[in-house]
Amino acid sequence: MALPTYQPKRVFIGRLKHGADLLQELTRIVNEENIRTGSISGIGGLIRGAVAFYNQQTKQYERIELNESLEITSLAGNVSIFKQRSFPHAHITLSDKQGRAFGGHLTQGCEIWACEVVIQELEGGTLTREFDETTGLPLWKDSSIL
Ligand code: ZN
Repeated sequence: MALPTYQPKRVFIGRLKHGADLLQELTRIVNEENIRTGSISGIGGLIRGAVAFYNQQTKQYERIELNESLEITSLAGNVSIFKQRSFPHAHITLSDKQGRAFGGHLTQGCEIWACEVVIQELEGGTLTREFDETTGLPLWKDSSIL
């Protein structure tokens, strides 16, 4: 099977709005800029956070609330198409004042203190998510399996 390949296109580098929701901001930016495929990275801090853990037995996301100020030690994700829209999928690692780390799937509820992001747009075929029976997740289509 021929693997899909992509070429670098635009790179967006910027600071996100204080007080805004991190996932909502990423979703807004990738849709406003029509970024259909890409990668996301970032660092910064949150006023409060929330992450999700995907329970493989129940096939449901379990939400974890973190009601304190946190460092974003790593934000890593990608952009593809889901339900005809640009869809950011990211995971985040957060640390508290003792340096203890928490992490998971980026979900709504991460209130930005400060956040610097780099979004690399990629050009190539359309990378689309569809429901995957085995995992219960909207994953990239079979044509993108390595
Ligand atoms: Zn995830």
